[in-house]
Amino acid sequence: MRTCRGIASLRRALAACAGKQVGLVPTMGFLHEGHLSLVRACRRECDVTVVSIFVNPAQFGPSEDLRRYPRDERRDSALLRQEQVDVLFVPGENEMYPSPYRTWVDVTGLDSKLCGRSRPGHFRGVATVVLKLLHLMRPQRAYFGQKDAQQALLIRQLVRDLNLPVTLRILPIVRDSDGLALSSRNVLLSARERRAALALPRCLRRASGLVEAGETNARALRAAMAAEIAREPLLTIDYIAIVRLDDLEDAAEIAAGNTLVAAAVRVGRTRLIDNFIPGGMSC
Ligand code: AMP
Repeated sequence: MRTCRGIASLRRALAACAGKQVGLVPTMGFLHEGHLSLVRACRRECDVTVVSIFVNPAQFGPSEDLRRYPRDERRDSALLRQEQVDVLFVPGENEMYPSPYRTWVDVTGLDSKLCGRSRPGHFRGVATVVLKLLHLMRPQRAYFGQKDAQQALLIRQLVRDLNLPVTLRILPIVRDSDGLALSSRNVLLSARERRAALALPRCLRRASGLVEAGETNARALRAAMAAEIAREPLLTIDYIAIVRLDDLEDAAEIAAGNTLVAAAVRVGRTRLIDNFIPGGMSC
């Protein structure tokens, strides 16, 4: 595995891969099996696997957890070596945002809903860094997790709108054995918070069970989900949303394959998200 910290050395590493199918897995590091599922898919489907690790300051608000965000480059690097990743890109902040930095990407409309409501500017940071990474690496394929469904949908829109020559692969959520979606932020939870957090996947399982039993009414589903979260006093609801996949506008009814059921909660200082898509998502 070749580790590149600068754009010049990344360009040299990629020049050696000309004519090969390149796949990109962008991450913020502190890797877990969710990330590794993307890496493994990339390895299966592409000749060259590039992973980026960059805790992107532009997607954190001033009062958010940028400094608390867990990091362990040595461990990440060892894991990626084991997965036989070809290139690891670990840029410094000045490499990605040389001063003065003035160019930003807004995916209007999609960026202000759901997570965008409580994280203003977050998706501008995400869209900008992802466009920069796609532009730098020119991969044929790029891999994202459904765990961050809004992010994946926003990037799908960005790729369409800017005619980017990349195929997006959006892969299923990988969960811990108790059902909690894997997230780098889970290590920030105390044991008590970790137990309380299980109400999040529980509320989605409850909704999914109701949908399977024939319930399609969004209001009824949201109420059932909220009731499940309300039973856990350590959690506060940020949002419970049942929205259309294409524009993230509220859906009155579930339409299989075109509806996102998503929730975000706070437990202590940590914010957690989870979702499911009845009928699955096609990209
Ligand atoms: P992050 O490092 O949190 O920015 O995540 C990097 C990529 O991994 C994103 O595309 C995430 O959606 C994806 N990812 C994070 N957690 C999971 C998970 N539990 N299952 C599948 N993909 C995930």
